[in-house]
Amino acid sequence: MLPELRQLVQSVKQAEDDACALAILVEEIQRIIGTDTCSVFVLNYRTDHFILMATQGLAPEAVGQLQVPSEKGLLGYIYQKQERLRLSHAKKHPAFLAVPDLGEDRCKAYLGVPLIHRRRVVGIIVLQQFGRRQFSKTDEAYMLTLSTQLADYVSGIALAHLLTSKEHQDNTPYYWQGASISLGLCIGTPFIKIPLKELSEIPDRPCEDVSLELRSFRKALIATQKELKQLTKQMSSMLGEQEKGLFEAYEQMIMDQSLVHEIENHIRDGLWAPGALRRVISGLRQQFLAVDDPYIQERTCDLDDLARRLLTHLLSAKKTLQSFPAKGILVANEISAAMLAEVPRTQLVGVISLKGSSTSHAAILARALGVPAVFGLKSATLEEFPSTEIILDGYSGHVIASPDEHIMAHYQNLLKLEKAQAKRLAKSRREPATTLDGHNTSLLLNIGMALDWEMRKDVGAEGVGLYRTEVAFMLQDRFPSEDEQIRIYTQVLNRMKKKTVVIRVLDIGGDKSLPYFPIQDKNPYLGWRGIRVMLDHPDIFLVQLRAMLKANLKSGNLKIALPMIAHVFELDQCLNLYSQAYQEVLEESQMRAVEYPRPEMGIVVEVPSAVYQIRALAKRVDFVSIGTNDLTQYLLAIDRNNEKVSEGFDSLHPAVLQAVRATIDGAKAEGKPVHICGEMAADPFGAALLVAMEVDALSMNSNSLPRVRQMIRAISLMEAKQLLAIALLKENASEVRLYMQQQFERLKLGALIRAGG
Ligand code: PEP
Ligand code: MG
Repeated sequence: MLPELRQLVQSVKQAEDDACALAILVEEIQRIIGTDTCSVFVLNYRTDHFILMATQGLAPEAVGQLQVPSEKGLLGYIYQKQERLRLSHAKKHPAFLAVPDLGEDRCKAYLGVPLIHRRRVVGIIVLQQFGRRQFSKTDEAYMLTLSTQLADYVSGIALAHLLTSKEHQDNTPYYWQGASISLGLCIGTPFIKIPLKELSEIPDRPCEDVSLELRSFRKALIATQKELKQLTKQMSSMLGEQEKGLFEAYEQMIMDQSLVHEIENHIRDGLWAPGALRRVISGLRQQFLAVDDPYIQERTCDLDDLARRLLTHLLSAKKTLQSFPAKGILVANEISAAMLAEVPRTQLVGVISLKGSSTSHAAILARALGVPAVFGLKSATLEEFPSTEIILDGYSGHVIASPDEHIMAHYQNLLKLEKAQAKRLAKSRREPATTLDGHNTSLLLNIGMALDWEMRKDVGAEGVGLYRTEVAFMLQDRFPSEDEQIRIYTQVLNRMKKKTVVIRVLDIGGDKSLPYFPIQDKNPYLGWRGIRVMLDHPDIFLVQLRAMLKANLKSGNLKIALPMIAHVFELDQCLNLYSQAYQEVLEESQMRAVEYPRPEMGIVVEVPSAVYQIRALAKRVDFVSIGTNDLTQYLLAIDRNNEKVSEGFDSLHPAVLQAVRATIDGAKAEGKPVHICGEMAADPFGAALLVAMEVDALSMNSNSLPRVRQMIRAISLMEAKQLLAIALLKENASEVRLYMQQQFERLKLGALIRAGG
C-alpha cells in the first residue's frame, strides 16, 4: 500500500485547485479501501462547524453546504476525543446523529479519522459502508498514515475556504495569535511573499501558447547555464578538484540534449514548462535511484539542485513584479533572513511569519532591524491576509485583520504612547546600567545581521559583544577575499571608535549556509557547523583570522570569539591556527609582538559539553561568551527553527538557567570575564536573572538595549538575586515566566513588557 499512498498524497498536492485535491482524495480512498462512501469534513474554526468539503457516495449537492456543529454527532465525538472511531454499526453509537437528506441512513460500518495539525483537529475523513462490514486494522493504519501526511495540507484548505466564505467578507475584525518575536506595534499593509515551490509540488497545467512556453523554457535554460558558468568561475580559486567537478557535472547535465528534448516534447504536447520539467526530472530521478550504485544514486541531489535552479528562472520570469507598500508588513509562510534583507528597510514596519520561532536567524534579524514581529501564527494561511491595513502587536503576539474604528483608535493611541516611550528611553542612553544598589553590568550590541542599519543609531552601548560575520559572507557570491574582509572589519572597528568589538569567527551550517558553499546535512544543527567547518578548512579560517588581525592594526579594539566549541582539542587547534595567523601578520607588517599585542580570544559557550568543561576551556582563553540560543537548543533538544516544537523552546527553562549559572561561575573561577550574547540578554526577564548571576556584560540588538537598561536601573542586585533564587526552584519555564511577570508587576516594571508602556 505504501507506494499507492505516496502516489495519492502526491496527486492531492499536485491537484489544480483545492476542490480537485479533495475530490481526488475521496475518490482514491474509496477505491483503495473499497468502501461505499468517503467524505472529508473540515472545521470552520470561527463558527465551530464541520463543513462537508467533498464526498464520494453521499449526496453531492451537500458539498460546501452541509455544516455540522463541532460538538455534535460522531464528528463531535471524534473531535473531542481527537481519536479515530471504528464502528460496525454507527447508528448504535450513543453520539450518532442523523443528518437529513445526506443519504447516510443506509450506512452501517463507520471509520472516522481526525486530521490533526499542530495538536488541533482541522478536519475528519469519514468512510462508511452500506452493508455489514468491520473496517480492518490495516484500513485504520492506512488512514492514520494518510491523515498525518495530509493534515497540514487540509488545514490550509480549511482556511482558504474561510477566506472565500461569506462570513469572512463581512469585514468583522478577526485576529490570529502568534508568538511575540520582536516587541513593538505597527499598523501597515501586508506584503505577501510566496516562496518558491519544491519541484515535486508543481502541478500539471496546460500551457496557453506553446511557442511562448518553449521560448521561456529556452531562456531559463540559458540563464541557468550562465549562472553555472559564473559559479564555476567564481569558485575555481576556492574549491578543490572534487567540488569543481560537481559544477562541471551540472553543466554537462544541462547540456544533455536528450533531457532538453524530452522537456520540450512535453511542452509541445501542451504542458506548461514547470510541469514538463517536473515530469522529466522525476523520471530521471527514478532511473538514478534504480541503479545499484551509490555514486549514481547520490547524483539525484545534483539533479534536484539543477532542477531547482531551472525552476527558479522559469517561475521568476512568470512572476509579476509587485512593489513593496509604503508601510509594509512582510508576511510569509516562513520568513528567511534573505527575504528580510530584500525588502526596502525604510518601508518595512513589521514582520509576520506563519512558521518559525524566536531564535531563528530571521527572528534575530527582525529584532536587529527594530521592527515588531510575530511568528508562528497557528491556524493562519497566507491566503487569509487582506490587502488592507492590519495591526501587528509584537507585545501580545496578536495580528488583527479588518480592525473596526474602535480597535484602530485604540492602537493608534498605543502607537503614540510607544513613540513617547522610545523618546524617553533614548534620553537615558548616557546613563550607566547600574542597579539601585550600585551594581554595574555593561551593555553591548549584537550586530552583523543588518550592519549599516544596526549602527545607525547611538543607543549608548559600551561596545559590540557579538559581530556575526555570516551575513557579510552571505551577501557575496563567493568567499570574500582577505582584502575584502579587511575592509569590512575595519569599517566596524572604526565605527565603534575604540570601543571593544567582539568579532565571531564564521559560524555557517545549521540554518545559515552560503549560496556558494552549500552544506547539505541530514541533521544540520548537529552536523557540519561553526568551528567544525572552519577547522576542516584552515584555508578559510586563516584568511578570516588574518583579515581580522590586519583590520585591527590601527584601531586595536578587536576581540575574537570562536563559535560552537564542543571539545578542548578543538579549542587547542583553533589557538594553534590563531598563533600561526598572528605570526604571519606580524611578519607581513614587520612588527614585533610588543608593538602589536595579540588581541584577546574567547569562546562562545553554546554546546552543553562546554558547560561541563568550562574551567578547562576558560583557562585557555581570555574571555567567555554564552550563546544562549544554541545552548537552549542543545540542552532542550529543540531545533530552534522548528515551530512544531517551538512552544518548549525557552531560555528561562530552569535547566538552562542552571547551565548558564554554572558557566558564569566556572569562568569566573578561572578569572575570566563573561558576557551573554544570546537572545536571553534582550529579554527583560532573562536580563534580570543574568544580572543576578553577576555576569559582566549583556549583548543584544539595539532595539532591546534601552529597555534592558531601564530595567537594570530600576531594580537592585539584591532583589534580582531573590528573583533568581526563586526562579531556580521552579520546575518549568512557564512557571519561571509567570513568576517573573508577577514580580515585574510588583516592582512596577510591567510597562517594559507591555504595548505603549
Ligand atoms: C547563540 O547561539 O546564542 C548565538 C548568539 O549565536 P547564533 O544565534 O548566531 O547562533
Ligand atoms: Mg549560536
